[in-house]
Amino acid sequence: MVALRIGVLALQGAFREHRRSLSRLGAESVEVRKAGELEGLDGLIIPGGESTTMGKLMNAGALWEPVARLVAEGKRVWGTCAGAIVLAAEIEGSDQPRLGVMDITVARNASGRQVDSFEAPVPVAVLGEPPFPAVFIRAPYITRVGTGVTVLAEWNAHAVLARQGRVLVTSFHPELTDDLRLHRYFLDLD
Ligand code: GLN
Repeated sequence: MVALRIGVLALQGAFREHRRSLSRLGAESVEVRKAGELEGLDGLIIPGGESTTMGKLMNAGALWEPVARLVAEGKRVWGTCAGAIVLAAEIEGSDQPRLGVMDITVARNASGRQVDSFEAPVPVAVLGEPPFPAVFIRAPYITRVGTGVTVLAEWNAHAVLARQGRVLVTSFHPELTDDLRLHRYFLDLD
């Protein structure tokens, strides 16, 4: 198998933690801050952080169009938490910029405030047992999914892990745990 080269958008947020998870799986990763750094990549992770701040930094770096192109080319792209918001088609009550490549509606901060951050054992059928230790930090819930979207996990009666083609979103933060199964799943997306 040819080794994948995965970019991690490194404008702000938990990008180092994603790189650590990828490296523990033996995957090569690079930090992406400029459009040119997307060239030759097999995929991209958009980390958690603050989606409005990330949007401003993406504006400044003229990164929207090249990231959208990566999705259009069928490359794997994964948004975690704020990254999921950046990928969504609709954001409840907000006109902040977004890529709109995933046909979902998200409600920001739906899991509660920062002080209400929690870890929950979320059952994920595609990963098997045990449930995934999902860390929620001011997480978005997915409140609507389009017909092309497959929900892979729910928590608190809302979708928190979903896939549309090779685009994956999680409301929670797999990179903050030692469980590498979702990073493995992302690398193995067909
Ligand atoms: N609440 C943040 C936002 O709306 C996301 C939080 C996170 O990524 N942990 O962008």
